[in-house]
Amino acid sequence: MLGQMMDRQLLISGLLEHAETTHPHSEIVSRRCEGDIHRYTMKDAAERARKVANVLTRFGIQQGDRVATLAWNNYRHFEMYFGVSGFGAVLHTINPRLFAEQLIYIVNHAEDRFIFVDLTFVPLLEAIKDHITGVEGFVILCDENKMPDTSLPNAMCYETLLAAESSDFAWPEFPETHGASMCYTSGTTGNPKGVLYSHRSTVLHALASVGDEVMGLSSSSCFLPVVPMFHVNAWGTPYSACITGAKQVFPGPGMDGASLWELIEAEQPDLLLGVPTVWLMLLNHMDKIGKKLESVENVIVGGAAAPLQMIKDFDQKHDAFLIHAWGMTEMSPIGTINAHNHIMEKLPREERYLLQQKQGRPVYGVQIKIIDDAGNELPRDGKTFGRLMVSGPWIVSSYYKNDDVSSFENGWFDTGDVATIDENNYMQIVDRSKDVIKSGGEWISSIDLENAAVGHPDLAECCVIGARHPKWDERPILLAIRHPGVDVDEASVLAYLQDKIAKWWMPDAVIFVESLPHTATGKLLKIDLRKEYENYLIE
Ligand code: ADP
Repeated sequence: MLGQMMDRQLLISGLLEHAETTHPHSEIVSRRCEGDIHRYTMKDAAERARKVANVLTRFGIQQGDRVATLAWNNYRHFEMYFGVSGFGAVLHTINPRLFAEQLIYIVNHAEDRFIFVDLTFVPLLEAIKDHITGVEGFVILCDENKMPDTSLPNAMCYETLLAAESSDFAWPEFPETHGASMCYTSGTTGNPKGVLYSHRSTVLHALASVGDEVMGLSSSSCFLPVVPMFHVNAWGTPYSACITGAKQVFPGPGMDGASLWELIEAEQPDLLLGVPTVWLMLLNHMDKIGKKLESVENVIVGGAAAPLQMIKDFDQKHDAFLIHAWGMTEMSPIGTINAHNHIMEKLPREERYLLQQKQGRPVYGVQIKIIDDAGNELPRDGKTFGRLMVSGPWIVSSYYKNDDVSSFENGWFDTGDVATIDENNYMQIVDRSKDVIKSGGEWISSIDLENAAVGHPDLAECCVIGARHPKWDERPILLAIRHPGVDVDEASVLAYLQDKIAKWWMPDAVIFVESLPHTATGKLLKIDLRKEYENYLIE
């Protein structure tokens, strides 16, 4: 028997309509590329998003067409989120940190018809314009008097276009399963892969994220997403903000410690969101100026593991709680989160810090399990390592225009991560499956080794990879960058590790290097290093 409830579709335009009518005065504050601070309200944003939809109509965009952005976190990007998806077109957010060949590949693969670009990134597009000739026009996200002299063909000014349009536009109704936005993985091997989010997946993800055990947003919250709108939709926060009416503070290009502090001091956010490297810069800056992050209650950290020292620094120096989260582009992105709760309340501080190092428990809607190489589910005992599989309504079911189904198994997606899960369903990432070192049939976590080694006061960055070994198949070797001006040697690093790791995890070699390669999202790129050092231990 069917239920007798209305079959209203979950559409992104519905989020904005709710925000405009229920939270019209919610503030949106942005640092602009031009350097100044801009502020307006949700009502202003909604009006301008409808103007964007009218611009798309004038451009001849059809539902399902791809319209791209190459932009920082700012109010114009926010308007594009809703103008494009609300219209029924697909918003393709491009990550400007991708290499030129990857940018060319994804613009052509997505068949972007128009690209809306912040002033900062105009030169990036000028450099590749001859290779993306399918793009019909470029809209520069700036005021008329800031229009640059550009070689981009058919370049137009965003503000001029919007000024000519009415703010009347009736958001169309269509099935919630239609594509709403897309994002390409930064890819460590081969070409980036496209992930096409639907209206339904986006709205469900936003609904799940606002709750107390996740982001804990409300109309009295004020949050600062440093996590970029150009990569996995700033963890879905623009949508969550519409549900709750939380005030949003967009940092634009200012991600350094001083710029972030200036915004935090002025706007008083209680929640910050971003990757660990950003918080390292902010924490260093705060140490330097000797001030406290008074307004900040929670800091959501994801994208890479949050170091123990960072958890402690936020707590002890700033009275702020670090909420560790895990997810990926393929998961919209939230999978698990380690929010403050009654379990933690009861723990002594040092034990709580250890629990905070775990990536947390699944958000409602996401199921997780770990399996061995034969596909058998492994126990949730907090110790056994296995391949982490996920399933849920905001998890990718196939890649965009890509036949590779190797990550999809019977309704589960293979995350490529290796993890443990404990009896309370807390998940902890151990490694990427391709990075884990298989020594004599046992697994060694390259991440744990790196985290232990980087605690050495003379080392700036560490990278652990597996090298071939005649007896053990693989053994770990450590590549390390020294801090400038210090002369630490292999023996000192190994001695430092003595009481921090199991004896059989001890690297077989420490190699000092000048630099280490990174992906577009700032993660260590180990593939070339593995090739280079493959035979290091047998030569
Ligand atoms: P990319 O860096 O290729 O764009 P994503 O941004 O989707 O990919 O990153 C997803 C991967 O980042 C995860 O599979 C995991 O390996 C890593 N990751 C994300 N959050 C965390 C975390 N809190 N701790 C450790 N690793 C994390």
